[in-house]
Amino acid sequence: MTSSGSADVLVVVDHQGSTVRNPALELLAAARAIGRPEAVWLDEAAPDEAALGMLGAHGADVVHHVPVAPGSVLPAQVAALLRAVVDATGTRTVLLTSTFENKEASAHLAFHLGAGLVVDAAGLERSDDGALVTVQQAFAGTWTLRSAVTAERAVVALKANAVPAEVVAEGAVATVVGHDVPAPAADAELVERTERPVSGRPSLTEAQVVVVGGRGTNGDFSHVEELAEALGGAVGATRVATDEGWIGHEAQIGQTGVTVSPRLYVGAGVSGAVHHRGGMQSSGTIVAINNDPEAPIFEIADYGIVGDLTTVLPQAAAELRRLRAEAGDT
Ligand SMILES: Cc1cc2nc3c(=O)[nH]c(=O)nc-3n(C[C@H](O)[C@H](O)[C@H](O)COP(=O)(O)OP(=O)(O)OC[C@H]3O[C@@H](n4cnc5c(N)ncnc54)[C@H](O)[C@@H]3O)c2cc1C
Repeated sequence: MTSSGSADVLVVVDHQGSTVRNPALELLAAARAIGRPEAVWLDEAAPDEAALGMLGAHGADVVHHVPVAPGSVLPAQVAALLRAVVDATGTRTVLLTSTFENKEASAHLAFHLGAGLVVDAAGLERSDDGALVTVQQAFAGTWTLRSAVTAERAVVALKANAVPAEVVAEGAVATVVGHDVPAPAADAELVERTERPVSGRPSLTEAQVVVVGGRGTNGDFSHVEELAEALGGAVGATRVATDEGWIGHEAQIGQTGVTVSPRLYVGAGVSGAVHHRGGMQSSGTIVAINNDPEAPIFEIADYGIVGDLTTVLPQAAAELRRLRAEAGDT
């Protein structure tokens, strides 16, 4: 192992192959608000030139590479690998993207480090006395919580889309620091892992735009899909739609589904029940399309369209395609 400079924050890089995913760049922007970040890359192969350029340009001049086969370890083992990097660097704060697996890894890591743990954070800052302060949305986005970490170390899982990614140094390339960490022991081992086929769309929890269909679709998600396609967004659903089998359960947003915080949420044929709101109310801009002007979703919508979704959605998608074509954007 080679040693690095003294980072204030270690950012665990979410990547697919050698491609750095946007949430990792958002983490780097959030990390820079509280100190100097370095990145951690867990993969058999070290990051390539393009990934190092991307990470460098977003403020990480050092990338710690821990060789481990992607998807071959469970969250407890990921935590053990991260702990080795924390021990080697003496870094006090570790940032991860708030996914199911990362939240579990965060809990293991925080436990072993004796660190303060915050998951589903939506922002980070320093208090006047230098303490790390996290911002979270609670109770369906109706409350904002600020928590100061009182432990010496902190592990924070930050929600995707909470902070915009930002380029800081055009052309800077990060350097790699290798860590030869022995494979961590496991109480449980991964026997099999089957990846869902890639749809070409962004994942629901990371997407900047989410188009959601509810009971009002009456089982026909083609218009929802069409608008999502035109906006380059992900497709989500209410529990009614997933329970009916109109779309897979992984698309369910709400109290018993996933929580999303996209820049733009479009709900079509969605009433806005409290259980659904719990998973989307912290979205940036909320657009509702419903044929009932009294639908509760209009109470939280920034823009509301009273109309039939089978008319409104295709019109919106067609207009977007027309504007794109006009602008020469194919
Ligand atoms: C413990 C518990 C947990 C739950 N967890 C979740 C959860 O995680 N996520 C979730 O979503 N729900 C959850 N629910 C269910 C939730 O309470 C609501 O029943 C559900 O969200 C309603 O889904 P919906 O908006 O699709 O359907 P509805 O409430 O039936 O609303 C359909 C809407 O579509 C409109 N509409 C109908 N036709 C059209 C049309 N042609 N064009 C435009 N608009 C139209 C109607 O006016 C109506 O407002 C949970 C419930 C419980 C009890």
